[in-house]
Amino acid sequence: NLFKEYGLSDDLLKAITELGYTQPTEIQKQTVPYLLSKEEDLIALAQTGTGKTAAFSLPILEMIDPYQKHVQALILCPTRELCLQISKDIASYSKYLSQIRSLAVYGGSNISEQIRGLKNNPQIVIGTPGRVNDMLKRGVLKINQIKWLILDEADEMLSMGFKTELETILKETPKERQTLLFSATMSKQVEAIAKNYMKGAQKISA
Ligand code: AMP
Repeated sequence: NLFKEYGLSDDLLKAITELGYTQPTEIQKQTVPYLLSKEEDLIALAQTGTGKTAAFSLPILEMIDPYQKHVQALILCPTRELCLQISKDIASYSKYLSQIRSLAVYGGSNISEQIRGLKNNPQIVIGTPGRVNDMLKRGVLKINQIKWLILDEADEMLSMGFKTELETILKETPKERQTLLFSATMSKQVEAIAKNYMKGAQKISA
């Protein structure tokens, strides 16, 4: 089992084995060991269905400090549906990691309830750019200590018109963060985000 060779903890291995993940997918082979050992940024060209959610979630779950209460990883994605899907996947991967909490924040849903969710001190926040931006403006969500920023379906977020929101969010994150950008296509707008906000990113495709 390659997942074991990567050094994932027994609690993570147990959860993914129960899900029937016995071997990593192509994108996971390229990203999991990379993220576990390097702090450089990463650009991954990957379609939905390739296992990209686990590709970024497993290493992050492995590296998060369960005893720190601030948000350590922020995952941005284009839609409420994807947000909920990622959130569900992370919940199942972290089934045996009792100290790890995550929160999904997205538009079209009661903001007060999502703000209350922050009181549980989630280490991982998964959100759509509009709602994350709103919560930053209200001063309820703090992302100035995150270690990982994941832009999932970056091309979709940009073609949906979230450029301004993304830039506002990016500017509130610490410079030392590690940025992981996942996209099905490398559009001009995606290239521009990578050029302006990422450093020396390794590119992979699967
Ligand atoms: P995604 O591309 O993240 O939407 O994942 C596509 C599907 O593949 C999801 O249903 C995952 O649960 C599943 N999946 C992800 N990684 C693996 C794996 N290593 N082995 C088997 N199934 C997987």
